[in-house]
Amino acid sequence: MVVDDSPVTLLILKKYLEEEYEVINAQNANDAIQKMKEHKPDLFILDIMMPGMDGFALCEMIKKREKDVFIPIIIISALEDNESKLKGLEAGADEFITKPVNQFELNMRVKTLLKIKDLYDKLNAREKLFKAVFNNINSGITLLDISGNRLEVNNKAVDLLGYSKEDMKTGTGIFSYTVDDEQEGKVFQELASGEINEHVSEQLFSRKDGSQFWVRHSLSSINDNTGTPEMIVSMFTDITETKTAQRHLANYTALLKKLIEAIPMPMYVKDVDGVFIECNERFCKLIGLKREEIIGNKQYSFFDKEAIKKIKKAEMELLKNGGHKEFELQLKDASGKTKAFAFYKETFTTGDDIAGLICIMVDITTKNLLEEQLRKANDILREQAIRDGLTGLYNHKKSLEMLEAEIKRAKRYNNVLSVLMLDIDYFKKVNDQYGHQTGDDVLVIVSEIIQGNIRETDIAGRYGGEEFLIIFPHTNFEEAFNTAKRINKALKEHEFKEGFKLTISGGLSEWQGENAAQLIHKADKLLYKAKNGGRDRIEPAGKT
Ligand code: GH3
Ligand code: MG
Ligand code: MG
Repeated sequence: MVVDDSPVTLLILKKYLEEEYEVINAQNANDAIQKMKEHKPDLFILDIMMPGMDGFALCEMIKKREKDVFIPIIIISALEDNESKLKGLEAGADEFITKPVNQFELNMRVKTLLKIKDLYDKLNAREKLFKAVFNNINSGITLLDISGNRLEVNNKAVDLLGYSKEDMKTGTGIFSYTVDDEQEGKVFQELASGEINEHVSEQLFSRKDGSQFWVRHSLSSINDNTGTPEMIVSMFTDITETKTAQRHLANYTALLKKLIEAIPMPMYVKDVDGVFIECNERFCKLIGLKREEIIGNKQYSFFDKEAIKKIKKAEMELLKNGGHKEFELQLKDASGKTKAFAFYKETFTTGDDIAGLICIMVDITTKNLLEEQLRKANDILREQAIRDGLTGLYNHKKSLEMLEAEIKRAKRYNNVLSVLMLDIDYFKKVNDQYGHQTGDDVLVIVSEIIQGNIRETDIAGRYGGEEFLIIFPHTNFEEAFNTAKRINKALKEHEFKEGFKLTISGGLSEWQGENAAQLIHKADKLLYKAKNGGRDRIEPAGKT
């Protein structure tokens, strides 16, 4: 912008400059003030003598108003007018040209000043950027000279420490906020003397109110051209939260390790690729490998092939699909012992992704053994509940139950059915003569003779002391009678080791639609008849 009250001068200067620059003319100070609002000129050329406000006053006003930026001002003065030049300098003018204006000289001055302005603008932009970073960065920053005087403090430092900027700039001591002053003083001296360029540490800072917090503190020196330290930058970031999180993680990890060891069964953890990342001592013992030989490995060099195949298949599926799996498996441990284990496998995630699996192995060898024993004991108990302890035949209760069941079946299928009630003759005498033990032995032998002479489908029970109930399903009177006679004959011919022989009597009855009690009663009556009829016989001798 050229400001001059002489239209001729304005015309000439515009002509000189317009080839390279956009030229705005103003005829006086007021005109200039109006137009500079709109056009924001990069450079002014001012005449001194103008009606109203003169060039000096205008120059001073412009410089005052635009103090944050550099706007070069050239004053047009008369040749050798040193007094004007001095006044111009005081008003803030940057250059002078003399009338009559030489085009070349004018262009040179304008060019030079605009170049300087450009540099200033760039520098200004950098400083603005620096200031913005300095004050908005999430770290506290203080700049110190090498004597330890604090030159500059940013907003975050004020936030973090609770001191005001003034407090900090005038405070005594190099770092009023460091807790370990001695150590920091030493580091500062090393930086200030150029021994080191940078020092980073994690340490406690204390606020104005005395509370403390963890920071990552970096100290670095800024050197001058010769490499001599000029300034020290102290930069610190609050890491209390990180520290707390780290401590929690460390606690948690320690706890987890303890837990894994404390679990009273073999267990391991694998990552998503199936690599062992953790295991407890019990697992090491089980497979006979050291922890170092397991962790980081993927392959199983233990257990038998069959077991490995099953485990691998299960784990691959889990790591692919996630979730939970339980199964039982027999395998050989490190000592070659076959053991049964229940495997409990569970996947874990980080975010949404499967990160690995945990496997706990429960030794169920003893449990299985106990279960087996229990099963056997139960079988025995069940047998004992239905068998007679001496002869092994069905007991009284079971014989009756079976008779009831057979009657039901005979009814449903319209089958025939016969029952035989047997009683050893003069058995009392055996006890009396040979003792109770021989009596027992005889009962066992008689049972064997009975069993040996009936079909598998026939049912023999010890009904009372020396009384036996035999049920013949699907059997009519004639067939049953033949069997009864066979038993009678077989016993009669048997000589006991003491040298005596025995006979047996029986009541035989074919079922005619009675219930169990009635049928037994019928057979019993016939047995009584056989006894009365002289024993050693089956009643009735023929079908009734
Ligand atoms: P009968 O020809 O009239 O049947 O005469 P008996 O002696 O066989 O009949 P009785 O009913 O008078 O005697 C039965 C005896 O059987 C009485 C009892 O001591 C004996 N007895 C019953 N159960 C057992 C047993 O389990 N072991 C032994 N050793 N004897 C038994
Ligand atoms: Mg008897
Ligand atoms: Mg009897």
